[in-house]
Amino acid sequence: MSRRSWPPRGPSPPQPELVSPRSLTLDEQLHAYLARVGVREHPAQRALRLETDRLADGQMRSSLEQVQLLGLLIELIGASRVLEIGCFTGYGTLAMALALPPDGRVTTLDVNRDWAEIGRRWWRAAGVEERIVFREGPALASLDALLAEGAAQSFDLAYVDADKKGYPTYYERALALLRPGGLVALDNMLWHGAVADAADQSRQTRTLRDLTAAVHADPRVSMCLLPIGDGLLLARKR
Ligand code: CA
Repeated sequence: MSRRSWPPRGPSPPQPELVSPRSLTLDEQLHAYLARVGVREHPAQRALRLETDRLADGQMRSSLEQVQLLGLLIELIGASRVLEIGCFTGYGTLAMALALPPDGRVTTLDVNRDWAEIGRRWWRAAGVEERIVFREGPALASLDALLAEGAAQSFDLAYVDADKKGYPTYYERALALLRPGGLVALDNMLWHGAVADAADQSRQTRTLRDLTAAVHADPRVSMCLLPIGDGLLLARKR
């Protein structure tokens, strides 16, 4: 069977039976161990993380191990052009910029310039400010502007961590902007566990649940939903 004929078209296959072993739940002690020896955090990343955590919206920051994984993925696929949808204070931005070669670029989008300016001080301190291009405005408008500028199929990796209602559209635009073999990573796809609770029919939960089902059935990509951070869905464009 060729890879392109998988997954099969048609109705979803039955659920496989649950199998062991499964991913661990991290308690405080194990998470502290992981943070100590499982990731390498640049001093500027640490400073930006701590500054972000003092903000009222600090919980919107991506997790330490998640941004480490994004950096490793950038190295693995030899990425030089990265798109970030949702900059916030630029903590993930910094991790990805540090993983890029010197001529690499992260194009990062956000409606809020003040958040990005917090990150910019630490991007500069880490010596990677010139690798980061911030675009202010609604993400969809910026994505359509990139496509209009001829950026289709020019990015190697796209990281989506923005308003959840926009995710289905961001996924489609990201696929259009990625080269074949490029990777889209969507954050918060386990949504604190709410997606597995059939009783939770809130709009955001349904959007993320429906999008995961759509990616699961999407023959244009290979995919894996990772239980890291709040759930990271990786999809490689074929
Ligand atoms: Ca997030």
